[in-house]
Amino acid sequence: MREYTIKNIGENGEATVLRFIEEPFEFRAGQFAMLSVPGNETKRAYSIASSPRGEFEFCIKMVGGKLTSLLNKLKKGDRIIVEGPYGEYSYKNEDNYFFVAGGTGIAPIISILRHIHKKKIKGNFVLIYSNKNIESTIYMKELEKLEKENKSIKIVFTFTKEAYENKRYEKGRVNKEMLKRHLGGIKNVFLCGPMVMVQNLKGLLEELGVKRVSFEGWG
Ligand SMILES: Cc1cc2nc3c(=O)[nH]c(=O)nc-3n(C[C@H](O)[C@H](O)[C@H](O)COP(=O)(O)OP(=O)(O)OC[C@H]3O[C@@H](n4cnc5c(N)ncnc54)[C@H](O)[C@@H]3O)c2cc1C
Repeated sequence: MREYTIKNIGENGEATVLRFIEEPFEFRAGQFAMLSVPGNETKRAYSIASSPRGEFEFCIKMVGGKLTSLLNKLKKGDRIIVEGPYGEYSYKNEDNYFFVAGGTGIAPIISILRHIHKKKIKGNFVLIYSNKNIESTIYMKELEKLEKENKSIKIVFTFTKEAYENKRYEKGRVNKEMLKRHLGGIKNVFLCGPMVMVQNLKGLLEELGVKRVSFEGWG
């Protein structure tokens, strides 16, 4: 258990992104930590969004619950307690991965993509990222930049509440046809987002014959 000082705090899509001053503890891309504020015993799990080493970052949707209503009041320079790392799931330098994220489910996946990019790992990494619209999409600009700069990474955005002219975007919730269109021959799958979405997609992938599916869901 360690206390960290908030270096900056900013909005990114539907989330608030918190960055800390001190070096992160050791973790593997995809793992999570327990966060709490000094003087209050409420703790919640949050995926670590930064890649191992360097910055320490979390992206949190402020839902007005027990902990998020406290986190929402924090300012630059305030202290926060971080425990961890936790989580069996982590990326282990595989050269192919199919990711599907919804909303804040992007947190462990951007950690992995940042790691792949930083370490120049070559392969086939595809992400389908589902959100209501462009405005609510977390890390949209960074994800577009990652795809542009890294030939091993492909990002497919899909929007459920708004239709856009851009032909590169999918429309609507992730469904079986969409999975089939982008899955190719990828063997490893990681799903992260709302529990209902994750469970539904796991079933669809099983129908498509994909067996190695890791997942994490919340909300
Ligand atoms: C492994 C793991 C990793 C997680 N990583 C992240 C992350 O990176 N970013 C993140 O924002 N959250 C993440 N979560 C969810 C987080 O742990 C909390 O559950 C969430 O922030 C709500 O906590 P709270 O104390 O504010 O709400 P609570 O007081 O626990 O709940 C209050 C109400 O809000 C509702 N609620 C809870 N979560 C959501 C939601 N996401 N959207 C809408 N309503 C909700 C609940 O159903 C409840 O009715 C993760 C959860 C797990 C298990």
